[in-house]
Amino acid sequence: MKPIYVTSPSLPPLAEFIPYLEKIWESKWLTNNGQFHQQFEAALADYLGVKYLSFFTNGMIALQTGMQALRITGEVITTPFTFVATTHAIHLNGCTPVFGDIEPDTFTLDPDKVESLITPRTTAIMPVHVYGNPCQHEKLKKIADTYGLKLFYDAAHVFGVKQDGVSVANWGDLSMLSFHATKVFNTLEGGALVTNDAILKKRIDFLRNFGFQDEVTVIAPGSNGKVDEVRSAYGLIQLKYVDAEIAKRQMVAEFYREHLQNVPGISILYDLPGVRHNYGYFPVLVDAEAYGMTRDDLYEKFKANGIFARRYFYPLCSEFPTYRGLPSALPGNLPIAEKTAQEVLCLPIFAGLTACDMQKIVELMHSEMVR
Ligand SMILES: *Cc1c(COP(=O)(O)O)cnc(C)c1O
Repeated sequence: MKPIYVTSPSLPPLAEFIPYLEKIWESKWLTNNGQFHQQFEAALADYLGVKYLSFFTNGMIALQTGMQALRITGEVITTPFTFVATTHAIHLNGCTPVFGDIEPDTFTLDPDKVESLITPRTTAIMPVHVYGNPCQHEKLKKIADTYGLKLFYDAAHVFGVKQDGVSVANWGDLSMLSFHATKVFNTLEGGALVTNDAILKKRIDFLRNFGFQDEVTVIAPGSNGKVDEVRSAYGLIQLKYVDAEIAKRQMVAEFYREHLQNVPGISILYDLPGVRHNYGYFPVLVDAEAYGMTRDDLYEKFKANGIFARRYFYPLCSEFPTYRGLPSALPGNLPIAEKTAQEVLCLPIFAGLTACDMQKIVELMHSEMVR
């Protein structure tokens, strides 16, 4: 029995990669803004329809560098329903995460919960377009503008996602993308910061390279977020295939929707109006009473059948030891996030998932109905 994981990366054809490697071997220019790095940044900005983009070695370092570039301090209002990187970046930059509850239908930070969390120490809001569902940007922007806060999106899940034809990565002061192996678009490891502000882009690029502005000027204690030529070339090739990747994922999502829509106790998500989705995740909510089985039991049953669905995002970030003592993290303060974390299960979704695999997955879920 071949295991089926929640995701499986798509790699570019190896034969297309070899000529790039030969050029890199020839030039011996391995990193520090090489030709493929420059080409990839330009091609990516063009594909995504964004103004300024800085390619990073991973999303985590991009988040930390972005916070530093924006000079975010004090308290940052964020969501507990995310991958730990969001919360860790806030903590590692010397700030305190303040958790707000999420919306029940999209699982993104609820803008109506944000205002009551603002204190004199608040300097930023860091929402997450979780599962590729765009946040309610207009409402969040209005709050940020009213209180003079920075708006920095963890946009790790929205590669290629558009709302009303506009790339969601354009929103806010800054957006962070991730190109980790498990994401819709991968450069093995990788990430990016996106902004509409030319001066901010410059500062980001200095901070990405230890803070060097030129050979003798270091503007601040920057980190090392640079990317090598090998991954830049790999990314250039990947970009040609990402639309096909998204189209195949969409077919998987449509199959699940068709076959799971009438399963009592299972809730699924549909496309949001005006949104071009990327189908990076397929979360379902398991209502134990109506379904006759808990989420954890379904997770174990899948596992016993070689299917490794994942409980993204459980536990909540607010439940980890570093954060659970924070006032905003105390049990009962985040009821919708707490309920979602108990009920959510992400089903396998990737371009290489076969019809047979999909059939097996929905059959395992249906079999609970006729116990
Ligand atoms: C993947 C991910 C990150 C981190 O990105 P890396 O490239 O793995 O460092 C941050 N936030 C969210 C929501 C993610 O899913």
